[in-house]
Amino acid sequence: MDRKEIAEGLKSLGLKKGSIVMLHSSYLSLGEVEGGPSEVIKAFLDVIGRKGTLLVPAFGKLGVLVEEVKNLPGAIVSTCPVGAVAAYGPAAEELCKDHWKAETAHGIHTPFTRLAEKQGMICLLGVDQDRNTTLHSIEALLELPYLQPISCTVKTPSGEEVRKEYKYFPGPHRDFIGLDSLLLQSGAMNVGRIGNAQVRVIDCTAMFDILLTAGGECPDLVLCNNPECADCVKQHAAIYAHEMTKESFRLTVSSRLAGRYIPEMVENLKKQGISRIELDYVQGKIAANLPAAKLLSAVQELKGENIEVSGIRLPIIPDEPEKLAEKLLAAGIFRVIMPLAGSAKTAEILKKSGLTVVLYNVAQSAKSAAQEFAGVLKKDTESVFCFNAANFAKAGEHPFLYSYSTGRFIKTTGQLDIADSTWDGTGTGLARGNAEIKELISIMRCRNFSGYFCLGGGASYPGTLEMAAEEFRQLLKNM
Ligand SMILES: [Zn+2]
Repeated sequence: MDRKEIAEGLKSLGLKKGSIVMLHSSYLSLGEVEGGPSEVIKAFLDVIGRKGTLLVPAFGKLGVLVEEVKNLPGAIVSTCPVGAVAAYGPAAEELCKDHWKAETAHGIHTPFTRLAEKQGMICLLGVDQDRNTTLHSIEALLELPYLQPISCTVKTPSGEEVRKEYKYFPGPHRDFIGLDSLLLQSGAMNVGRIGNAQVRVIDCTAMFDILLTAGGECPDLVLCNNPECADCVKQHAAIYAHEMTKESFRLTVSSRLAGRYIPEMVENLKKQGISRIELDYVQGKIAANLPAAKLLSAVQELKGENIEVSGIRLPIIPDEPEKLAEKLLAAGIFRVIMPLAGSAKTAEILKKSGLTVVLYNVAQSAKSAAQEFAGVLKKDTESVFCFNAANFAKAGEHPFLYSYSTGRFIKTTGQLDIADSTWDGTGTGLARGNAEIKELISIMRCRNFSGYFCLGGGASYPGTLEMAAEEFRQLLKNM
């Protein structure tokens, strides 16, 4: 390869006189170049001319072509220890100005976003999208919830050393390579070959338009889906948790669905960005039957991981409510969820002991459940109804079309169990049975329901928490 051939190749891919180009490169990818690295840079300058500006990333490990650009007479380097750029040409000063003052390393008022504002280009010479630093601008501009601040010391142009925090700094792993086809199909990118190198030339402004829109719709756009990638698992969880902060309801999860052992529950909840749990079963046993010390340590272990226990669920009405209340309160549990079946007296005792009583419908019709609950309210006005749609389906009713309105449960419901089942009681995926769970979620969400949605509550879900959480998020997304 010689300078002329390289220049011809660059022109054919869209670079021209006056272009502002951010170059990411692997010099060795070109193969043999007559005259060495400096000829490659000269080829770029031949194409973009005196009015063009060439930029290269100038932080971390610098390649030979970066060194060439940095050493051009008059080249400047922007001040930012975690995202510096070297630039040569008439627009260099304007692109690099005050980089250190920006709130982020790659967002607004940085060379990367200025590149898009000035209709610049990005050239990936023998490297792939993984090296395209400007893609971090998309993440920073979208303020994606998994991004973290980074602290560093900046030596300002006046020689002062200042501590600086850049917001929305990217995490360790992401899947920029996965964006390649989107950029190619949308016409924002040309791909060709110069020597041995595959070369991509991207219209930066078009890239911003396309990816800001796509990332606005899918905040996980640049994350990988490898379940073994701990970085992206964590970053996905941050997105899930952030999505839930926009909801009025409080999401909690059945401990049986979350896992068998506490550490397993913690791990699974964290992956889904969920920070509440309802204890029903632990290690396959009724949680409320755990000895006091074990229950306390379970609750403390969860709290130590920032997981709040939203309550404890009993499959039956307890024989000794005073003793149970004592144990629960000692463990720091304040809500008890139990069957609505001859439970008025027990509810009253639990309430007097200082617990919030939540009662779920069992093998009963909406009419009888509503009547019975009215009886409970006479003794304890603060009792809360837990609407279990799967159980109403098992009772042969249409939980949304019939049970919900017949029992006037709008007023009394403080918890909705997010589970589904067929008429014959077989647990199914969400919105795959007869519990009309999608309709119930939708109507309660429309009313800004501020009580609990308990994923997997009071039913056996035929799958993992990961599957249930994904189904639940999809339902929310599609309503
Ligand atoms: Zn990953």
